[in-house]
Amino acid sequence: MIRSPRSTQETTLLIFSGTVSIGIGLFFIIRLVSGEIVLAVHNGGIAITAFCVFLWVYKTRETEVAGIIIASACVSGATIIVYLAGVEHFYWAYPSFIAPFFACRPRVATLLSGIGLTFLLPAFWLAADTLVFVRGLVALSANLMFGVTFMVLSHRHKAQLEHVVKTDAMTGANNRRALDEYLLQLVKPDSRQGRDASILMMDIDHFKPVNDFLGHLEGDKVLSKFADVVRKNIDPKDQFFRYGGEEFTVITPMANGAAMALAETLRAAIEEAKLVSHQPVTVSIGVTSLNEYDSGDTALMRADMALLAAKDQGRNRVILAKS
Ligand code: GH3
Ligand code: MG
Ligand code: MG
Repeated sequence: MIRSPRSTQETTLLIFSGTVSIGIGLFFIIRLVSGEIVLAVHNGGIAITAFCVFLWVYKTRETEVAGIIIASACVSGATIIVYLAGVEHFYWAYPSFIAPFFACRPRVATLLSGIGLTFLLPAFWLAADTLVFVRGLVALSANLMFGVTFMVLSHRHKAQLEHVVKTDAMTGANNRRALDEYLLQLVKPDSRQGRDASILMMDIDHFKPVNDFLGHLEGDKVLSKFADVVRKNIDPKDQFFRYGGEEFTVITPMANGAAMALAETLRAAIEEAKLVSHQPVTVSIGVTSLNEYDSGDTALMRADMALLAAKDQGRNRVILAKS
């Protein structure tokens, strides 16, 4: 079986946990050899946790829980070492408190770092003189501020990029790339788990004359209004895509009967919306339910055949595919 390449988060966690397990593992050996058993247990605990996280991410590709575990190990490790070995170990806080922002979501990272700081700062305050405390605090705050700003902006840019890449600019519907990805996920046996799903394939009737009489710019506006009407009549759980040109797709977590009712609602709503004055704009819809043997393509093809049948039978109608 061909495996997809590792995600950025997987790679980050593998490098991160691998480095921590080797780096802190070396300190563990040094502590053990020099007979500092308490510190050896502390270092060994972090190194083993990091190694387990490395193996876990390598094998399962899970990053959410793994990220929280490695980040917690770093934050608690850097805090405990100040209590165990003294204030000169405060510098471990610089990399350790920024680590959660690379390993977890920003909110979780903020929480973990916040909890760590409430334990770390009192120990630092009690052990260090005021000037050293203030210097350490300012340096740590600056370190955190730069790191947090970088990670929050990076998460935001990633979300914006994903939105742009998967959205059709003209209609605001999800685009064909998003449809292909969504279908790929949908037909996976572990994500289906016997749940219902149906595809509605929609094609605007006689759209070419709309362009011919009103021009392409007006045609674009009609497509945009068409998308608005569909969005108003579907549930947040339904997914809406522009398949291409004047063809759109809705994927709904419903079986045949309810999906046919939704298709009929959409057909009627488009007819009633009178998207072009003095000229009816209607839509033909082919509907099919996904079966357990479907790939995305087989399901789309069945919906397309039903759509063709709707066109053949006179347009402005809904047809259920033969399963
Ligand atoms: P039918 O009922 O058989 O579907 O007839 P039709 O005229 O809708 O079908 P046809 O496939 O012949 O024409 C589709 C038209 O949709 C042709 C094309 O110019 C137009 N179209 C596709 N994409 C866009 C777009 O982004 N903007 C505009 N304005 N028109 C588009
Ligand atoms: Mg068409
Ligand atoms: Mg058409």
